[in-house]
Amino acid sequence: MSCNTIKIFHRCGGCGKKKQFINTGKFRVNANGNRVDVWLIYQCERCKHSWNLTIYERKRPSQIDPEEYELFLENDPDLACKYGNDRGFLKRNRAEFQ
Ligand SMILES: [Zn+2]
Repeated sequence: MSCNTIKIFHRCGGCGKKKQFINTGKFRVNANGNRVDVWLIYQCERCKHSWNLTIYERKRPSQIDPEEYELFLENDPDLACKYGNDRGFLKRNRAEFQ
C-alpha cells in the first residue's frame, strides 16, 4: 500500500480478539449471473486472518461505473486508499476506528 488509510479495529475470527486490520489494497470481485459483489480485503495485523469489507453487494453490473469496475479488477492502489479513508464505507461495515 502506498498510502495511509484510517486505522480500523475488528474482532478477529482468527485470534478471537479485537485487533487492528490492515488494508491489503486488494479487491475481490464476484460476478454471479447478473449480480456483482465487490469487497476490499483487510487482514488482521497479528494472524493475517482476512476480513472482506463490502463495497457493493448484489449490484447490477449496469449500476457500477465501468471505469471503477476496471480499477477493482486491477487492484488499483489509489482506489483502495480512497475506500480505506471513506468513513461512511467503514461505518457501513461496522469497523471501529479512531
Ligand atoms: Zn487475528
